Amino acid sequence: MTAAESIVIVGAGQAGGWVAATLRNEGFTGRVVLVGEESYAPYERPPLSKSLLAGERPIEKCYIRPPVFYTERDVDLRLGTRVEEIDTVRRRIALSDGERLAYDKLVFATGARVRRLKLPGAELPGLHYLRTIDDCLAIRAALKPGARVVLVGGGYIGLEVAATARKLGCAVVIVEMQRMVMARIVPEGISRYLAELHRGHGVEILTEVGVAGFERGSPLRVCCDGGRNFDADLVVVGVGIEPNVELARAAGIATEDGVVVDEFGRSAVPGIYAAGDVARHFNPLLGRHIRLESWQNAQNQAIAVARGLCGKPVAYGEVPWFWSDQFDLKIQIVGLPERWGEVVLRGDMAANRFTAFSLADGIVNAAIAVNTPLDIRFARKFIAERQRLAPSALADPQIPLKTLG
Ligand code: ADP
Repeated sequence: MTAAESIVIVGAGQAGGWVAATLRNEGFTGRVVLVGEESYAPYERPPLSKSLLAGERPIEKCYIRPPVFYTERDVDLRLGTRVEEIDTVRRRIALSDGERLAYDKLVFATGARVRRLKLPGAELPGLHYLRTIDDCLAIRAALKPGARVVLVGGGYIGLEVAATARKLGCAVVIVEMQRMVMARIVPEGISRYLAELHRGHGVEILTEVGVAGFERGSPLRVCCDGGRNFDADLVVVGVGIEPNVELARAAGIATEDGVVVDEFGRSAVPGIYAAGDVARHFNPLLGRHIRLESWQNAQNQAIAVARGLCGKPVAYGEVPWFWSDQFDLKIQIVGLPERWGEVVLRGDMAANRFTAFSLADGIVNAAIAVNTPLDIRFARKFIAERQRLAPSALADPQIPLKTLG
């Protein structure tokens, strides 16, 4: 790579920011252009449903680097700007402000957007989604003591916002259309445990209930299937996200619920890469392509891609890791099981301190640690090494995990 080379990063979220920062840290001296449509410098999203929403953390503490970093390290940060078009043959992009720029390498870090409800009244004021700092600030302004909050969707967003809203003294209802909360993420026993925890903190949870629509008014009326209605001062919808692939697809790059790339973040088109939530990347450890919506992936896969761009390719293949804070629980999940196996419990659910291991055909393929952060290191190792462990040993807290495997 020559010093004259130019790298364009499309998307200035956590992944885009990490690509830019790593390029400079690795000594890349060419041009780095980082284009993002939001008005904030790259930031981490986990606090948006937790400490930023609760007013316990300032925005500045969400940035991955202080905004001055980009000027100091000569990163051309274009905020409030979209990339409208990419010509992969002439290697040029068109920006929303009309400018055209040439690139040698381009990284898609376009992330994902919230899935929107297509229901009567879904565009009414009072109905919010949570993905950006601006979304978070708008929701926060309405989380007043006594406010009636209805959450549509009982996944990460629904449960975390529920916990934050209860802490702030709101009345909270969760409406989940599936049979259980966090169904995409945890096995049934853990889902039941989480639902009970929330109910114990005064959250009303409805499952197997769909939302039929919303009626204008103050409060807003949430109409559920089966005739039950709720008055809401605030509705927050958290029904998942979808990757921003349109730009890549229009440029002729293969997409399949994400931009398809290999373990180095390379697409099939020379000079085009992807990192973060949008990247459907090959994970050598799991032996398949996956797309991850996680803090770990947005940072570390982006770092791996940037190193590759600097001529130091490293295959990115970590055991996926996710976390969630709900009330006084610190929940960590490692592994990305295609199916949950036998669930082996270590510790005490009633005391809110346990680790649940999943064994598929006897091999550890995932674990969920609730307030047991020290177990995670071992769980990750067991999964990476495809350890076959005896359920009775895993379940026995008298046997240290470090002696297993
Ligand atoms: P997020 O990150 O937005 O929380 P998750 O995938 O973790 O996304 O959770 C989304 C949840 O929303 C899932 O539990 C899913 O079953 C639920 N869901 C999806 N569509 C609806 C809907 N129309 N009404 C209620 N719940 C829904």
